[in-house]
Amino acid sequence: MLVRKMDSEVLVLATDNRGKIVELTDLLKPYHLRVLSTKDLLLPDPEETGSTFIANAKIKALTAAQASGIPAMADDSGFSVAALEAAPGIYSARWAGPQKDFNLAMQLVHYKMIISKSDDTQAWFTCALALAWPDGYCESVEGYVYGRVVWPPRGDNGFGYDSMFVPDGKNMETFGECNINRKKLISHRADAFSRLVNRCFKGRNFDGKRLLSFRQK
Ligand code: IMP
Repeated sequence: MLVRKMDSEVLVLATDNRGKIVELTDLLKPYHLRVLSTKDLLLPDPEETGSTFIANAKIKALTAAQASGIPAMADDSGFSVAALEAAPGIYSARWAGPQKDFNLAMQLVHYKMIISKSDDTQAWFTCALALAWPDGYCESVEGYVYGRVVWPPRGDNGFGYDSMFVPDGKNMETFGECNINRKKLISHRADAFSRLVNRCFKGRNFDGKRLLSFRQK
């Protein structure tokens, strides 16, 4: 299968979610790209009409790439709870309502877990990343991190559902308690990003000056 390599020095990040912008900008740092956001370019947010993370990531990346004429990366991600049959999943942002109140969304998760009468606290985050070009070409990958729900939430770092999630391992910190450098090593976003790097960035010249543009088997 042909894979297109990242061939531009400029990239649009197709999101206005501050938490995602902070984490993706940090992950992109070693690649010396000029990173613009959809806000910088006054691009509209498309409706997320897909039924999967990948489908929604592709919609966002393709819309931004085609509107800007610049390759665009989009992240569609979410929180899934085993006892809630993987909800809120692709509806993670919508559970926070129009006010984007994630304390409310976390309370809703907690309340629904009580109603479910399940004692299963397993949960995971999924992150789909899509990299799209203005001509309509798009690559996409998915990454995960597994762990458990805790209540009450702990920590003010991060965003969204971070403070009610403890990733698997010996460290009992929630994502809301740990710093960006730890989250960067183990998160769903980091997992997806490393898959995207392997797919589309490896084989490129990363000196930030001369970039190679080619397709590779
Ligand atoms: P969307 O991808 O814009 O539909 O929104 C994804 C939503 O999932 C975010 O608004 C967060 O609530 C949640 N989410 C995604 N990634 C993370 C994360 O790394 N930490 C906490 N919540 C996240």
